[in-house]
Amino acid sequence: MSEYQNTAFRVYPIKVDLGKKNPLKTVNFYLLSLDDQLILFDAGWNDQNNWEAFQNTLKHHGFTMKDLTAVVISHNHIDHCGLVNRIVETHDIPVFAHQIAIPRLKRDPDFLQMRINFFHELYERFDCGDRGKRQVDYLVESLDKNHDAAIQPSISAIEKAQLQLLEILHFPGHAPDQIGLWAQESNILFGADVLLQHISSNALVEPDGNGKRLPTLHQSVQSLNKIASLPVELVYSGHGADIRDPHGLIKKRLQRIEEKGEKIRVLIQNGAVTGRDIAQSYYGKTYDQQFSLVMSEIIGQLDYLEQKGKVTKIMMNGAYRYSVI
Ligand SMILES: [Zn+2]
Repeated sequence: MSEYQNTAFRVYPIKVDLGKKNPLKTVNFYLLSLDDQLILFDAGWNDQNNWEAFQNTLKHHGFTMKDLTAVVISHNHIDHCGLVNRIVETHDIPVFAHQIAIPRLKRDPDFLQMRINFFHELYERFDCGDRGKRQVDYLVESLDKNHDAAIQPSISAIEKAQLQLLEILHFPGHAPDQIGLWAQESNILFGADVLLQHISSNALVEPDGNGKRLPTLHQSVQSLNKIASLPVELVYSGHGADIRDPHGLIKKRLQRIEEKGEKIRVLIQNGAVTGRDIAQSYYGKTYDQQFSLVMSEIIGQLDYLEQKGKVTKIMMNGAYRYSVI
């Protein structure tokens, strides 16, 4: 039995346990049966556990790899596209993703170099000094190390996919290229990482295709509001449990974003002026330990506060200095 079914649409979730220590809990991806199509929405991590979970789910429901008709990738992160190369090597089917995911999934060297330059300048602007430089060094090392993670088959823009009952929705914020699939007739959303039951999804700072910083937290808020405007009753997400009260959870997440923003505004009012000041005052030691996540959070909040007219900044000696309005 699938978890959800009507005559035209069935959902077969694949959930891979990541162990108690991993805050994501599980990696989830989904087999979707639509009339004569069998679509894989996301493709997990690239490891044996994920591969076996995928194979077992196919087998358990009477499918083989040959029945798969397409893979749709929700966004470019490695825990969502890990098995794509292996699948397409075995069975040559089309792969779809948002247009702006393509250079990221392909690990386009020009794009990745632009992205490194972006972070180099970003961390200078937010006064992150040596800690910022270390993060940029790490990105440079990853460039070589992750060479093999590139998606090999050609990737088509998602608009070209024929998904029958499923509407494709763009949910930027956590990743600029994130998409979800909306099954309007059954009020089910496949949301990837736009909304998670047990943790808030990070809005990760990213450049657009031209190296300009995206307003990622504001985009996350807009994506959550977009979901809130739908009569959605069930969200199948990229990690953790299925979401049975999406409207209540969105309210909680939006409230938390506002609370964090207010806390940051007060820190600035009390004399934290640079990005690093603000991040260290807010997060203490976590600033060093989880630098890129912390800076994503702080930068996202600062851009959002500035956009709402609550704070302003000037540039001094190559770094921004914030003040409240
Ligand atoms: Zn994820």
